[in-house]
Amino acid sequence: MSWYYQTDASEAKERIKREIAKRQKRGEAFSAVEAPAGNSKLVKTFWGKAWNENLESYSDYEHRLPRGRSYLRQGNVYNLTIQPGEVSSVVAGSELYDVSVSIAPLQKSRWSEIKTHCEGRVASMLDLLGGKLGDGVMRVITDPECGLFPNPKEIRFSCSCPDHADMCKHVAATLYGVGVRLDAQPDWFFVLRSVDPTELISTASLITPAAADDALAGEDLSALFGIELDAPLETTPPVNAVKTTGRKKKPGE
Ligand SMILES: [Zn+2]
Repeated sequence: MSWYYQTDASEAKERIKREIAKRQKRGEAFSAVEAPAGNSKLVKTFWGKAWNENLESYSDYEHRLPRGRSYLRQGNVYNLTIQPGEVSSVVAGSELYDVSVSIAPLQKSRWSEIKTHCEGRVASMLDLLGGKLGDGVMRVITDPECGLFPNPKEIRFSCSCPDHADMCKHVAATLYGVGVRLDAQPDWFFVLRSVDPTELISTASLITPAAADDALAGEDLSALFGIELDAPLETTPPVNAVKTTGRKKKPGE
């Protein structure tokens, strides 16, 4: 019995390889999300962990998440793209499937409240993106109801696979792929949520500048984010993308 399964699986792998080669020939780029294999931690930073913990906190998702995680670890998630309110990818299962995930924009009132709660408490972008935040700010940001992370009601997904379950493993793999991406490039979280992270940074900081800046002064930032900071393309903070969301708010709005 298992022999048939193995044959099926290796045939599917071959078929997918051929399909990828065909698409590459047509000029389509194909790059897999590089996720740690085996038992090593999938994510290590504040934003990656907070994203994954948010996913795992909802019972709606729990059945499909483990399969999604292994799909991602096996390198089956390709071409992960994050845009304001949108995530898309191509996931290799028995075939190549197109996945798209829509996330409702963060409500303006929720964003205003978060900004109010964080006022004077986030000293710099470096602190924000590096997750060097006080307990109070972390609680506000990760609050399941009023925080920055989307809850299941705000997430819609579709996949071209024949599995009509609420969430298939391809979608789950893509959502975990976002966590891995945020581990290396946390600024993409704010692009996804269509908010400008600089609005969280204090102009007149109430916190001692020392605590934050000294903590980072001696650190290798490339190591902190796990990326090459001087790599030009993907690591450029996508502030412009965020700013397309509209006018700046007036105080009190
Ligand atoms: Zn699917």
